[in-house]
Amino acid sequence: MLEIRDLVAGYGGVPVLRGVSLDVRAGEIVAVLGANGAGKTTLNRAISGLIRPDGGSIGFEGRALAGLSAPDIVALGLVHVPEGRKIFPNMSVRENLELGSYRRAKANRAANLERVFAIFPRLKERTGQSAGTLSGGEQQMLAIGRGLMAEPKLLIMDEPSLGLSPLLVEEMFALVARIAADGLAVMLVEQNVVQSLDLAARAYVLENGAIAMAGAAGTLKRDPTLMTTYLGL
Ligand code: ATP
Repeated sequence: MLEIRDLVAGYGGVPVLRGVSLDVRAGEIVAVLGANGAGKTTLNRAISGLIRPDGGSIGFEGRALAGLSAPDIVALGLVHVPEGRKIFPNMSVRENLELGSYRRAKANRAANLERVFAIFPRLKERTGQSAGTLSGGEQQMLAIGRGLMAEPKLLIMDEPSLGLSPLLVEEMFALVARIAADGLAVMLVEQNVVQSLDLAARAYVLENGAIAMAGAAGTLKRDPTLMTTYLGL
């Protein structure tokens, strides 16, 4: 579904990603792990069309993404839930969710809103509240809910557990499993290694802008060098 080959990308001609290749297949949960500064955010930005790659290729369902704008990419069903809860703080919960269907699935907006409320009942209780006054965990739910409004085929989630309390982290991973059970593919970009490997079928470890390890999540989980060598844990 997502095919990345020899991707080179960075800022101002300085490469951060130095030849990354990875795949996400239909219906699969794939984890991308990496320490701070490994290049995870840069990878997400390149896939989402927010920065232009300097080399290599990104394909989605057999179509090259080169030259497409970020909204064009969303329209194809490749939807990115950004890190840092990038919601619109002065707009209501409902308005934020509705923005998610601006480029895709507009006709199904009402049904999808109900679907999102079924997954996140907390958001339903707060439809009229300004998003900026939600708790951190609720803002994270809102960001994910907004992504789901576009009926993604592939959802890229940038550190959904970042900044959450341990209990909420558990809840967040359970929610990701539930969302993925509906059949969409998920690329989970995370620093929370153990829980990501429990959830994902396969994983890639990004180190210094290159893939240092890749394989079945169960195998990687048993690898003694993974945490110490590549993740600096
Ligand atoms: P973290 O987990 O800390 O967010 P990351 O794996 O997402 O890290 P990136 O944000 O992709 O890492 O950053 C990788 C490298 O690219 C870092 O060395 C960073 O300083 C650099 N970088 C990121 N954004 C820019 C930018 N806009 N201009 C220049 N360099 C950047």
